[in-house]
Amino acid sequence: MRADVLLVGGGLANGLIALRLRALRPELRVVLVEREARLGGSHTWSFHTGDLDAAQRAWLEPLVRRSWPGYDVRFPGLERRIAGGYHSVASEGLDRALSRALGERALLGCGARDVRPDGATLDDGREIEARCVIDGRGFPAARFMNAGFQKFLGLEVELAADHGLEAPLLMDATVPQEGGFRFVYVLPLGPRTALVEDTCYADDPALEPAALRERIGAWAEARGWTIARVLREERGALPIPLEGDIGALWAALPAGVPCAGVRAGLFHATTGYSLPQAAGLADRIAARPALESAGAYALVRGLSEEWWASQGFFRLLNRMLFRAADPGERWRMLAHFYRLPEPLVHRFYAGRLTFLDRARILSGRPPVPVLRAARSVRARPLVAGPA
Ligand SMILES: Cc1cc2nc3c(=O)[nH]c(=O)nc-3n(C[C@H](O)[C@H](O)[C@H](O)COP(=O)(O)OP(=O)(O)OC[C@H]3O[C@@H](n4cnc5c(N)ncnc54)[C@H](O)[C@@H]3O)c2cc1C
Repeated sequence: MRADVLLVGGGLANGLIALRLRALRPELRVVLVEREARLGGSHTWSFHTGDLDAAQRAWLEPLVRRSWPGYDVRFPGLERRIAGGYHSVASEGLDRALSRALGERALLGCGARDVRPDGATLDDGREIEARCVIDGRGFPAARFMNAGFQKFLGLEVELAADHGLEAPLLMDATVPQEGGFRFVYVLPLGPRTALVEDTCYADDPALEPAALRERIGAWAEARGWTIARVLREERGALPIPLEGDIGALWAALPAGVPCAGVRAGLFHATTGYSLPQAAGLADRIAARPALESAGAYALVRGLSEEWWASQGFFRLLNRMLFRAADPGERWRMLAHFYRLPEPLVHRFYAGRLTFLDRARILSGRPPVPVLRAARSVRARPLVAGPA
């Protein structure tokens, strides 16, 4: 089989690239290979209005399941509504859009085992040749950073009565702080449906699904909600980089194969969100006059290194969160942050903090012990061992 562009992995990043290529470069033969039986996995991908420019928001609009004009946060002693849009894309929507756009050129239920700049070998032995190959198979098994984890389990539930929530509850950190910075995240998807996630910024990625489901049930019950049905479940453990070496990532990846998404390190260091970077990369790829692996590799590698360098301050904050604060006290850093002005909060999520913003985040009565904060400024060497 031959393709102009072969996308390996049908997740968020390659999914957006496929949609952009079909919309702007219909002459190209785009083939996408996905190991699972459906595209996009089981995710709800959210983003803030300011994370994307107006043109990107416009082309993503058909994928958006719900939008809200703001969101709430709750900490002990702080309840706040942050204005500014918040939007969610469901993986079912991406799956539908991609299936429509690619038809039989989306090969499902078949993984790729050997991915090269000029093609790939699939698990069933088929060979696909392509001028441009983009590897979007999710996090690579490469040791390039020391990380904490944002781990979570979410249940999309239908309630017996209306929940009455007007806006997402991005963080309810008034829950017991067990095992790290813990909060409940709620998206009110319909009058009686909501995605309720139990999230923890923890030192290890291990999830205990049964316990988390119980916690979510207890949280809902405490609010007076009766869960009539669980519609769906999603979970994840996203690495939150504390320090690392982006060069080591690229050295560990196959030479000359362009990557996309989290595989290329294109995600927000503190939140783990990757949708804004995925949308930006899709635009850049689709705008290339000639698409071939060598040029796409140079583009992605450049963007990845630039993005990693620009995220240094966020990795510093992560080190303070994970190393300077005791696990049960980590919430204080976020409570301090959420007292800051709205425009700064928006720039934080967009990864575009100014020098003054950084000073404001670090100023005031320190939410973590000063000596430990000072020690956490210095990055540590990479921990050896399996990724
Ligand atoms: C449950 C969850 C919720 C998240 N919520 C948000 C959010 O709200 N906002 C946000 O911006 N980010 C969010 N993230 C973080 C991040 O944006 C996602 O992980 C995102 O899906 C990463 O996109 P990606 O395309 O790099 O990888 P993925 O979307 O994980 O896609 C990788 C794809 O490659 C496929 N694959 C793997 N190996 C092979 C193989 N050998 N051959 C073929 N296919 C293969 C996988 O099956 C998968 O479909 C969330 C993550 C998770 C886990």
